[in-house]
Amino acid sequence: MSHTEEEWKKILTPEQYAVLREKGTERPFSGKYDEFFQPGIYSCAACGAELFSAETKFNSGCGWPAFYAAKAGDRVKLLPDHSLGRSRTEVLCSACGSHLGHVFNDAPQTPTGQRYCINSVSLKFTPA
Ligand code: FE
Repeated sequence: MSHTEEEWKKILTPEQYAVLREKGTERPFSGKYDEFFQPGIYSCAACGAELFSAETKFNSGCGWPAFYAAKAGDRVKLLPDHSLGRSRTEVLCSACGSHLGHVFNDAPQTPTGQRYCINSVSLKFTPA
């Protein structure tokens, strides 16, 4: 899956493009999947690859959808991110390289201790 940035601009809404392709971040507590806990699957809003199961979603209170694991099979790619003077780990879609969010080791209440902090705008939900 590869598109030029010009193609992505036509495929995605301006809001999606800003997050998925320009690594933006939606405002906290603004996303449609923040306080949303229906059973189903979350796919990449850009390419449709299945990324997260609702079974691993938890209420972190951080203002963005949070998952304690990605779906099996290297669906997401992790990269060091030193932007904004901080050391973080960026989460990208393995299939299309679009930006999803960041992962933090600050969720001891979950089975993995990890919090995949993902923008709602980067996801498309399909009910179970
Ligand atoms: Fe993708």
